[in-house]
Amino acid sequence: MTIHSVIIDELPDTDGPISVIPPKKLEAVRYPDPILTTPTTPVDFDLNPGYRLVAQAKMEAVLRRYGENALGIAANQISLPFRMFSYWVGPDKIRTLVNPEIVESSGHFEFQEGCLSIPGMSFNLSRPDKVLLLAQEMDGKEVEIESEGVLGRLFQHEVDHLNGLLVWDRLDTHKRQIAKRRFKKLSNERN
Ligand SMILES: [Zn+2]
Repeated sequence: MTIHSVIIDELPDTDGPISVIPPKKLEAVRYPDPILTTPTTPVDFDLNPGYRLVAQAKMEAVLRRYGENALGIAANQISLPFRMFSYWVGPDKIRTLVNPEIVESSGHFEFQEGCLSIPGMSFNLSRPDKVLLLAQEMDGKEVEIESEGVLGRLFQHEVDHLNGLLVWDRLDTHKRQIAKRRFKKLSNERN
């Protein structure tokens, strides 16, 4: 309860239209922000829906800002520690899912995976091809989504985020260390 009210208090600018949020606040937070490596809190539907709606609105606004450069975004990537993510389901349509869990997976699929929180890098990763996702809609209705290929990959990537894992946590230790060093160097060059 406390954490939710604190977060809402920190977002006074979302009372107005989303377009009034300063552009800088419409960016995904980057590694090593600790919120990215902290597991998120499950959404309690008995609580006031305000924080859920704020999270949904902000995730949509950030996704729209990235446009084609992003497939989805997790709430902790915009500094909100809730178990929610949003993703593109059509040219102009974004869906938000709450309390997602991957309950079944099978097969293998190689894919070059990037992340808004680790900009400038991508990793060739093999993960399960088909996954079954259980989640809730914004109104609490339970949904079961079978997916494969890129959509299945997106679900795994976002659920990892919500569990406090980043894409390089799926690499072996040596490759992960190299990747983190390279990202640190990239970040220093950008500053
Ligand atoms: Zn990501």
